[in-house]
Amino acid sequence: MPSSPRASAEDLSDRIKVSFEFFPPKNGDMENQLWESITKLAPFQPDFVSVTYGAGGSTKQPTLKTVSRIASETSLAPAAHLTCVGSDKASVDAVAREFKSVGVKHFVALRGDPPEGVGAAYQPHPEGYANGAELVAGLRAIDDFEISVSAYPERHPESPDFATDIDMLKRKVDAGATRAITQFFFDNDLYERYVERVRRAGIYIPIVPGILPIHNFGQVARFSKLCGTSIPDWLARRFDGLEKDPETRALVAAAIAADQVTDLVERGVDDFHFYTMNRAQLVYAICHLLGLRSGETPAVGAAA
Ligand SMILES: Cc1cc2nc3c(=O)[nH]c(=O)nc-3n(C[C@H](O)[C@H](O)[C@H](O)COP(=O)(O)OP(=O)(O)OC[C@H]3O[C@@H](n4cnc5c(N)ncnc54)[C@H](O)[C@@H]3O)c2cc1C
Repeated sequence: MPSSPRASAEDLSDRIKVSFEFFPPKNGDMENQLWESITKLAPFQPDFVSVTYGAGGSTKQPTLKTVSRIASETSLAPAAHLTCVGSDKASVDAVAREFKSVGVKHFVALRGDPPEGVGAAYQPHPEGYANGAELVAGLRAIDDFEISVSAYPERHPESPDFATDIDMLKRKVDAGATRAITQFFFDNDLYERYVERVRRAGIYIPIVPGILPIHNFGQVARFSKLCGTSIPDWLARRFDGLEKDPETRALVAAAIAADQVTDLVERGVDDFHFYTMNRAQLVYAICHLLGLRSGETPAVGAAA
């Protein structure tokens, strides 16, 4: 990572936009943790907060319940992730309409991974949307939703090359996507190079970096392998020997993510999507370091 002097945090706050991603809770304890995290992060007034859809399309009800509660109990703008894996078009459309009925105006539209898991061959449902682009078109036909899609600075593992990968992004934009959120990455040069490729392909929507604060390095390393994100040697070295020291690990993780984000700011990026893993602390610290302040307006409990 470059070690040039950073712009002061105060200089950045008026141009930084953030959004936060959560996953739907599986039990009461997780629900409490989720809402503590939302409550802690809400005062940063994120552009939107998104709620993921379970692997293989498995969490319609929990995702619906969570976005519905965000819409009714907070002043935050919820975005629902929606996948088309394993479903016919009519079922996906019905889910989208259900989300709409609880106040969702923004979807993160995704194909999803095969039920066998990341890396297995993807088989579209015979009467379903075959990919992200078809899903975007289907959502557009229902309403004038805001639609975000995925982007892969290191290529999606199924893409044979960047041209194929970026062609899919282009198809999603042509179908009506207005923002792309990237897979997490740790090498900002790779992100920058990807954005250059995307712009050369005539794609001008925001390519918002997805930032993953590292709560558990081992888990992140395993997941990175599956989804094609590279782990630079320097990153592994920073966690080396900290397996039994969670407090120091958290400090290191916050420093790494803050460094990544401030370096991106210096490269001209001003919009960030944080994969919170339903834990507020690291993301809170990073937003604070970016100069964002939680302000006076309570965003949770503000809606009727
Ligand atoms: C920001 C973000 C949020 C996510 N949220 C969720 C979530 O909530 N729930 C969930 O289950 N998953 C989620 N995922 C993971 C996502 O579902 C997987 O990465 C999935 O494998 C691809 O979905 P997609 O929408 O990116 O696919 P697409 O955009 O349809 O395709 C992704 C890439 O695969 C390649 N590809 C697709 N089909 C083919 C083909 N037939 N031949 C060659 N190449 C092909 C394309 O080049 C394309 O770039 C998320 C990913 C991101 C980046």
